Amino acid sequence: MRGEVRVPHALWQQLRATLLADCSVETKCFLLCRTLESESRVVFLVREVVPVPDDAYVQRTAGLVETRPEFVHALLVRCAREGYALLDAHTHPWGSNPQFSKIDDRSDLQKFLTTQSMSPPFRHGSLVFGNDMSFEGRFWDYQHQQMAPIVRLSVLRAPLETRYGTGLKPPWLDKAEQTLYDRQIRAFGTEGQAVLSSLRVALVGAGGLGSQIANALTLLGVGQLVLIDPDRLELSNLNRVVGASYAQAQRGWRKVYALAQRLNRTRPPDGRTIFPLPCDARSPDALARLLSCDLIIGAVDSAVVRQYLNTVAMCALIPYLDAGVGVRSENGALKHGGGQVQVILPGETACLACVERGIRQSVEEQLTPHQRELSIRGGYIQGEVIPNPQVVFLNGVVGNLLAWELVKLATGCAPVQTYVYYDLLSQQVFPVRAERNPECLLCAVHPDSLLGQGLYGLQGYLQRPGKIKRTGKPIPAPRGG
Ligand SMILES: [Zn+2]
Repeated sequence: MRGEVRVPHALWQQLRATLLADCSVETKCFLLCRTLESESRVVFLVREVVPVPDDAYVQRTAGLVETRPEFVHALLVRCAREGYALLDAHTHPWGSNPQFSKIDDRSDLQKFLTTQSMSPPFRHGSLVFGNDMSFEGRFWDYQHQQMAPIVRLSVLRAPLETRYGTGLKPPWLDKAEQTLYDRQIRAFGTEGQAVLSSLRVALVGAGGLGSQIANALTLLGVGQLVLIDPDRLELSNLNRVVGASYAQAQRGWRKVYALAQRLNRTRPPDGRTIFPLPCDARSPDALARLLSCDLIIGAVDSAVVRQYLNTVAMCALIPYLDAGVGVRSENGALKHGGGQVQVILPGETACLACVERGIRQSVEEQLTPHQRELSIRGGYIQGEVIPNPQVVFLNGVVGNLLAWELVKLATGCAPVQTYVYYDLLSQQVFPVRAERNPECLLCAVHPDSLLGQGLYGLQGYLQRPGKIKRTGKPIPAPRGG
């Protein structure tokens, strides 16, 4: 059993400011969290940072910190009432790479044994931070009656910030991978390639656009790729679906099987890591897979599915990359065409629900009058049903724009553009301002929003919420991740 923590950037800044305000003494605070649970992993989703007021400390020195039992008791009552898990956080402010002390060991065990009797089962863990926010973490595994390590902590910002617990190694590359990805390592370094190799990505949509993205991510060496799409191949797909064969289309193969078979051939024989899932993204099986990934990509033409993926990403604090394309023609002449890529970091950048209101206006402001006339009236941006014409060169450009943003987000090798728009006729790519809606019900850092609510936030979508855990086979964690 391993633990992981995900925290929106704004809450991370609050945590950092609280813990490092006075580095001459130990400081304590608490994190209220939802959890995502699978057989081998518990993900703590931070919802709220609760500082300890001065009068709630019993004692506080450079080597010891103790809070009043009444303060902790009130928090436990709140956790029980509101269904929260609790992470105790304190500092060892005299250095970096902190480790739990013998005193921490005794007091944590005592606390965990007390709180495990709360009903429903209560997730309780603790974190100790150094003066540079390096950390060691653990939580109580009540099934096995033992402490389990919290191995990594992810901050949702661009580029993504992933911290590993004291003594734990970040992802690394073996010799074979170094040879395989040599030309990319020359572009964004061994560390960057190692991050890509450790990523678990869910890609929803294996059609013209999705297959371009899957191809790019496979060539880039993304560690695990889950392809989700219920559709079957038709002959009319062969002008744009990468890797599909004529025979497969004739026999009506599922798109995800054709794509996985083709892409797995580019990997070493023992490293088949493209996983096909031929079902609707909103099914319980697909949800279990989505929740097990580090990143979600939507390349679908259904506005309903995109909004669903956006909601899952907000609830589970998973970055979401959305891409869409559209072409309009009249009497065989191409009139309008374009596409967009949006990078959504829960709690940090605008989500799909935020941009729905503002994006049209923003795009219009940045276009020339001629472009505006051609592009905006086409109505193919954000959330629109894709009109019929589909061409491989547009999918290729937009799919690779998404792959590039993903590389920047994961490796930090260049600044991320959170929204880019491509105009097919003018051959222009330009960034678009996508403003966050501070009142957004989905992504606002606010007690009432769905941000970090885990399955609590998805109940409306789940007809049989209990089924998710049973049917979802956990994906084995990639090496080093
Ligand atoms: Zn939003």
